[in-house]
Amino acid sequence: MSNSVFNGGGERVAPRVVVVGLASCFGCQLQVTNAEQYLLDVLGQIDLRYWQLASDDPMPEEFDVAIIEGAVTNEEAERTVRLLRERASKVIVIGACANTAGIPGMAAEGFFQRPSQVYDRVPKACGNMLSPRPVDAVIPVDYRVRACPIDPYDFIDVLQRALYGSNKSYASATMCGECKRNESSCFYASGTLCLGLVTTAGCGAKCVNLGRPCNGCRGLSADANVASARAAAVRFGIDPTRFDDALRLFNQTNPALAEED
Ligand code: SF4
Ligand code: SF4
Repeated sequence: MSNSVFNGGGERVAPRVVVVGLASCFGCQLQVTNAEQYLLDVLGQIDLRYWQLASDDPMPEEFDVAIIEGAVTNEEAERTVRLLRERASKVIVIGACANTAGIPGMAAEGFFQRPSQVYDRVPKACGNMLSPRPVDAVIPVDYRVRACPIDPYDFIDVLQRALYGSNKSYASATMCGECKRNESSCFYASGTLCLGLVTTAGCGAKCVNLGRPCNGCRGLSADANVASARAAAVRFGIDPTRFDDALRLFNQTNPALAEED
């Protein structure tokens, strides 16, 4: 399968790509630039039409691939992602904010009370607020790059899959398998909370390799048994409330956790 598409005249052209930021810190867009030695190769395969981090030009009308960073937190963002879905043949979401609502999602509880807690006179713009949600709560997405922030090489891998096609499947297992393959000792042995028990694998247990427990930034694994993981944490002396609070950091809006309550 070629990375090229055909224009109206039958000529092969590179896929037209747009990169859009919603509610986010733009850290994942910045991470893309950290691909450094590969960045020019990547740019050589695409026709980069719009990159919100780098330009204040208006977004073009036509494109083939939409890369979305950030959570949906207002009606304008909701309209934007619907438009991106209508016009792009491939939609890639990057970062925890876009995948799970991430850090913006932490504000979901009591969201509509927050403006009056912050402002004496609530600005009109707050009338457009939506409770923070991941992009796939609004539109179907085709590809995901997880974590906060993303790994630039993980981004390139997923972009290559979107451009060329691939039968590589997404990891749905939890992080512990990767961690054990690295032969790392488990944090629970010292009574330290680690969310690798329930977090989607795929980063190679990077934080544990660096001596830090997993904070769950890749989102709750579809294979996770949360009740069993919580019980295991309690057996190692962890307060279950601490486990639940830590898990909500990157999964505040996950319906699977709402069912747990
Ligand atoms: S996932 Fe993390 S680094 Fe990426 S935009 Fe959100 S807060 Fe920033
Ligand atoms: S709980 Fe954390 S430290 Fe323990 S095996 Fe799983 S990922 Fe590794």
